[in-house]
Amino acid sequence: ESTPTSRATMDEASYSHFRRLGTSGLMLPPISLGFWHNFGRERFEGGFEHEVRERPKADFSRQREIVHYAFAHGITHFDLANNYGPPAGSAEETFGEIFRKDLAAHRDEILVTTKAGFRMWPGPYGDGGSRKYLLASLDQSLTRLGLDYVDIFYHHRQDDSTPLEESMGALAHAVKSGKALYAGISNYSPEKTREAATMLRTMGVPLVVNQASYSMLSRTPEESASGHAEDSLLGVCERLGIGVVAFSPLSQGLLTNRYLTGIPERSRAAQNVFLGEDVAKDPRYLEKVRALSRVADDRGQSLAQMALAWVLRKRVVTSAIVGASSVQQLRANIAAARTIVRAGESVPATHFSDEEISRIEAILAD
Ligand code: NDP
Repeated sequence: ESTPTSRATMDEASYSHFRRLGTSGLMLPPISLGFWHNFGRERFEGGFEHEVRERPKADFSRQREIVHYAFAHGITHFDLANNYGPPAGSAEETFGEIFRKDLAAHRDEILVTTKAGFRMWPGPYGDGGSRKYLLASLDQSLTRLGLDYVDIFYHHRQDDSTPLEESMGALAHAVKSGKALYAGISNYSPEKTREAATMLRTMGVPLVVNQASYSMLSRTPEESASGHAEDSLLGVCERLGIGVVAFSPLSQGLLTNRYLTGIPERSRAAQNVFLGEDVAKDPRYLEKVRALSRVADDRGQSLAQMALAWVLRKRVVTSAIVGASSVQQLRANIAAARTIVRAGESVPATHFSDEEISRIEAILAD
C-alpha cells in the first residue's frame, strides 16, 4: 500500500513559488487541488439533468494516489465543499479517509477548505445563506472530514434572499468558534464582495479570499459594469487586499489537449452533456484551442500549463485550483507555475510578453 512521501523527501523548492493570499498571513501554492469531480464514491444517480449520463465507479486507490502525489509535490491546499461527490458529501468522506489513513500527522502542513451555499439536504435549511444552514453544514462537513476545524470556510454563492449580514455573521461565528481559521466567499459580485468585506471587518474577522471562476474562456472577473478595471472583481479584491482563488482554470478540461481528437470515454465531457455536445464538438472551439496550443508550443509549454500560467499572470490571483482524474494530469499541471526557458534564460512561467498577450487576445476575441 502506498503511503505519502514524508516531509523530508518533499520537494522543498516548491515552497518558493507560494503566494500570499491578499494581505493575509496565509501563503498558498500557485496550484491547488480541487475535489469537485473525481473524488466521489458511487455511480451517480440524481443531481442536475445536464450533468450526467454514466459515471465510472470511483476508485479509492487512484484518489489516494492523486492526493499523495499532490502533498508530496508541494500542493498543500485541498479545496472541498459540502456538496462535492457524487453523491453530495462523499468527496469530504473520501478526503477524510485519506487524511485519517495517511495525512493526520501532517495536519499543520496542509490547508483544507470547504464551503456551503448550494442545496445539500431537503427543506429550507439545507440551501442558501442562512445562519441555520451555514453553521449546521460546517458541523456536518467537519464530521465527514474527521477534522476539528477547516482552514477556510466559504459561503459558496451569493444569496440575495438572505441578509448579507446574516451570512457574514455565520462566517464570523465559524471563525470565532475555532471551527474555521479564515472566512471566504465564492461566486460573489464585485459589489457584494465590497459589502461583505466591510461587514466582516466590523465583526473583527477579515475577508481573506474570493473564489471565482476564471480562465481564458471565462473572463468575468476582469469585467465591470463601469468599464473601469478597478471596479471588476479582480480590481476590487486587489484594492481591498483580498486574494482571488481561480476555479476551473482549465475550463473543466477544455483548455487542455483532452478533446482535440474527440471525447475520451472516461472524460468529464463524456458525462456532461453541456461540455460534451455543446462545446467539445464545436468546430469554433476546436479551432480556438488549436490556435492557443500553437502559442503554448512556442512558449515551450502544454496548453494546460499555459492556461494555468495565464490566470496566475495577475498577482491578485493567488492560486489556481485544478481538478485531476490522474496523477499524470496533476504532474503536468504543477509545472505550469515553475519556469520556462526564453532566449536561453529561465523566466517565471507566469510571465507573458506583450506579443504573446496580443496573440492570445486575438484568438480569444475571434
Ligand atoms: P479544471 O478547469 O482544472 O478542470 C479539471 C479537469 O480538466 C480534470 O478533471 C481533467 O478532466 C482535465 N484536466 C486537468 N488537467 C489536465 C491535463 N493536464 N491534460 C488533460 N486534461 C486535464 O477545474 P475543475 O472544473 O475541476 O475545478 C477545479 C476545482 O475548483 C474544483 O474541484 C473545486 O474545488 C473548485 N470549484 C469551485 C467552484 C465554486 O463554485 N466555488 C465551482 C467549480 C469548481 P477529466 O476528469 O475529464 O480527466
